[in-house]
Amino acid sequence: LENVLEVENLKVHFRTPEVIVRAVNGISFTLKKQETLALVGESGCGKSVTAQAIMGLLKSPPAIISGEIKFRSKPITETMLISSIRGKNITMVFQEPMSSFDPLYTIGYQIAEVVEKHLGIKKKDSKELIISMLRRVHIPDAERRYNEYPHQMSGGMLQRIMIALALITNPEILIADEPTTALDVTIQAQVLKLMNELKQEMKMSTIFITHDLGIVAEIADRVIVMYAGRVVEQGSVYDIFESPLHPYTKGLLESKIKSAIRGRELPYIPGFVPSSTQIPEGCPFHPRCKYAMDICRKQEPGTFELGSHVVSCHLYAEENRA
Ligand code: SF4
Ligand code: MG
Repeated sequence: LENVLEVENLKVHFRTPEVIVRAVNGISFTLKKQETLALVGESGCGKSVTAQAIMGLLKSPPAIISGEIKFRSKPITETMLISSIRGKNITMVFQEPMSSFDPLYTIGYQIAEVVEKHLGIKKKDSKELIISMLRRVHIPDAERRYNEYPHQMSGGMLQRIMIALALITNPEILIADEPTTALDVTIQAQVLKLMNELKQEMKMSTIFITHDLGIVAEIADRVIVMYAGRVVEQGSVYDIFESPLHPYTKGLLESKIKSAIRGRELPYIPGFVPSSTQIPEGCPFHPRCKYAMDICRKQEPGTFELGSHVVSCHLYAEENRA
């Protein structure tokens, strides 16, 4: 399948008066047509910043961005290009639906603005299109809802409306940043089911950002595990769940099982996520890794490929493999 998006050696640092925050440190990946790629990691690992860089949402300065992002094989690093693609060919849904809508305008009006801007259809002519999209995301009473305001919707309904807004331009790529994290478990399941349905119907590619491995198992085809602004492991959802390679991924999976037993929501691996102003030398995971060797404290691991499964850890270097 063809690549719709290629990210090559992307780095995003933020310069503040005191420090440089190294949020994303040279990540590369591709997104194929109609694939759902999950970006997984604890908060602060750089997954949201990666999405924002792809969407052209970062201001520079303070952001210092390098590397290349290609949409349909064309670099979109230039501002001109990204402003025409963003919101139309590549769209995004966020964790907090309330923040994506203006409380002063009706739902219908706000979607109509997007339709007018990106599809060139005048507001008076887009009502039917919008109502049919609202129906598609299972909004009951869509005609009535069209004329209502964001505060008249429940959180789950507003999240589905945000998905409608993101899909109305028929984008090639949808980026979803923790879209269900703010919702309760039942509503979360409904939104995930909806996203799986729409992925089939609309034939788009999705980047799904989450810290929740349960969600990954339900929605993803392929998985990228991030740590300290790096990709530490990439593979199919089967690779990652059946034969995780990186000690961090193994830790996430173990803690997922333990937290399910304890009834805790968040996975937990002993130690702290490094602050992106003070990333440890060598392998950034070494202070938390039970397999750490001398070399891990000194040298950052390279990338090792085992078929389609890719890992960045010294354990998989030729000389360390059994
Ligand atoms: Fe652990 Fe070393 Fe692998 Fe890092 S490189 S994950 S410290 S074994
Ligand atoms: Mg985030």
